[in-house]
Amino acid sequence: MNTFVTKSLTEHNIKPTFPRMKIYEYLMEHKNHPSVDSVYQELVEEIPTLSRTTVYNTLHLFLERGLVQPILINENEVRYDGDTTVHGHFMCRECGVIHDIFFQDLNLDDASLDGFQVEQKQVYYNGVCPQCK
Ligand SMILES: [Zn+2]
Ligand SMILES: [Zn+2]
Repeated sequence: MNTFVTKSLTEHNIKPTFPRMKIYEYLMEHKNHPSVDSVYQELVEEIPTLSRTTVYNTLHLFLERGLVQPILINENEVRYDGDTTVHGHFMCRECGVIHDIFFQDLNLDDASLDGFQVEQKQVYYNGVCPQCK
């Protein structure tokens, strides 16, 4: 894991400091699309010197360098996804968990995108997950 983490950070021009490595490792091991706050809560026990600002700045740096993608479906907070491949999300309105969803073809009418430069794609569903139903 450590070699993979160091390599990914370095490849994205990010100096692999200990907190950055831990935060990226957390994102790789947990596909729960965490917020700044939940990453902080999960890691502060292991890294007592960690602050919310460090987590925020680190995730922001990861975003800038394309190492993570943002999920902007909750108006109150950004959630972060360590999986940067194109996939969709389903948020449960009961438990708030964001699940990955996968699709083959969006059946977009290409003509409607004529002249636009696409920089990000987000596919978002919401409803109730099987556990909460
Ligand atoms: Zn649920
Ligand atoms: Zn995802």
